[in-house]
Amino acid sequence: MKVLKFGGTSVGSVESLLQVKEILKNELGKKIVVCSAMSGVTDQLVQLLESIRLGDAPQIELKIERLRLRHQELICSLITDQKSRDEFLDDLNGMIRDISKLASQEFTGVLYSRIITYGETLLTSIFSKYLNAVGIHNTLLLAKDFMFVDSIENPNIGKVSVELRELLSKKEKSSIYITQGFVCRDAQGEISNLSRGGSDFTATIIAAAVDAEEVQIWTDIDGLHNNDPRYVNGTKSIPHLSYNEAEELAHFGAKILHANTVFPVVDKKIPILLKSTFDPNALGTVISDSVKSEGLKAISAKDNIMIVELTSKRKLISKNSLQKILRTFDEHEVPVHVISSSRTATSVAIDNNVIIDEILKELENFFSLRLENNKCIISIVGEHIVNDKNLSKFFEISNVVPIKMISFGVNNNISILVDSKYKVPALEFLNKKLFALVEADVQTVLS
Ligand code: ADP
Ligand code: ASP
Ligand code: MG
Repeated sequence: MKVLKFGGTSVGSVESLLQVKEILKNELGKKIVVCSAMSGVTDQLVQLLESIRLGDAPQIELKIERLRLRHQELICSLITDQKSRDEFLDDLNGMIRDISKLASQEFTGVLYSRIITYGETLLTSIFSKYLNAVGIHNTLLLAKDFMFVDSIENPNIGKVSVELRELLSKKEKSSIYITQGFVCRDAQGEISNLSRGGSDFTATIIAAAVDAEEVQIWTDIDGLHNNDPRYVNGTKSIPHLSYNEAEELAHFGAKILHANTVFPVVDKKIPILLKSTFDPNALGTVISDSVKSEGLKAISAKDNIMIVELTSKRKLISKNSLQKILRTFDEHEVPVHVISSSRTATSVAIDNNVIIDEILKELENFFSLRLENNKCIISIVGEHIVNDKNLSKFFEISNVVPIKMISFGVNNNISILVDSKYKVPALEFLNKKLFALVEADVQTVLS
């Protein structure tokens, strides 16, 4: 069994869905196909949710109608036969009525998840039916029937495995099973979601649950690049990454992978292949258990970070300050991304958007606190990166950008924190210093 995941742009238009159809036809053997919502649809649902929260009835109606039109357009382009088109549109209208009913309910966390995950439900329903209509036999599975998580960091892979295997044994036999990314049930059994971009995570949870031989993540770019292609020109796809490298890059801002994508498949050593839907012959990136080469692989940037500086109140310096700080953040379930520490002061980097009033109240008893917003983490990643022969070039960044924090010593990631306004200049500077230099070295060796 293989797991193939197609992201928002891969399912975002008729042309891209036809491309997905070809990819499915060429991939022999049994597969579970995980689909996202059409690109932009989850954002539309977020806006709809905001109107629901505000109780703005005209806006709710307008936004639901926009959603319906987007999918109606898709159906009308995919299906030419009038009778089956009407059937597709009837089903669509049924789902839209369900969304309207939900939209009239009280705004709660569960309602939020029910609505925000509807993009996946709409798309998979249409695509599965379309494939069956054109003779590509497939069976639709509902993720809410098997995707159980204890928390977003802790998928219940044992339970997913039992439920999914049972479902597969009961459902009509098929070589293609289609399901929704992003959708899950929480520990209370309520509909929840795996956080934005979470369909990648769905794919690896499923792969671990069914002992898949491979996970393929199909997207709009030919693999994981050595720098962020949204901000830097001339980035290149990396042929191979170790699990550690991919995990670091996913966590530290490489948007191509949801931050939690890698860990579910590590123990079972299931490889992840990153491929471009629009250039299927490009090699892409293989992520696996092996370490093919050491040293720098890629640069990434993680946005929306805040630094909390904690200076011990003089008389209270204690041996376990660090422990106290980390325990407090942990107890409030606020992840610390980077930490740097001395005897008298510690800095931690956390997400900007978390509420930390309680944490600050507790820590104020022991430390003087200072907060700095609007930071970003710039990371360079590669196995044994501290031994990379070009490493000193990395530190030249301090000549051009003020560094607020640094974490050095962990073997496969070196991170600095800078003001967000320096993100793009820092990424560009490092690209020139680190990758242009490597290419110059290659030229010297070749000549
Ligand atoms: P999907 O909708 O298929 O899940 P995403 O938009 O989530 O796709 O991820 C793909 C995008 O990730 C690319 O279009 C690219 O702009 C962005 N990206 C950011 N960093 C990297 C990187 N290091 N390598 C490749 N893509 C990256
Ligand atoms: N549709 C969801 C989102 O846009 C999940 C995903 O695409 O992975 O965040
Ligand atoms: Mg994504």
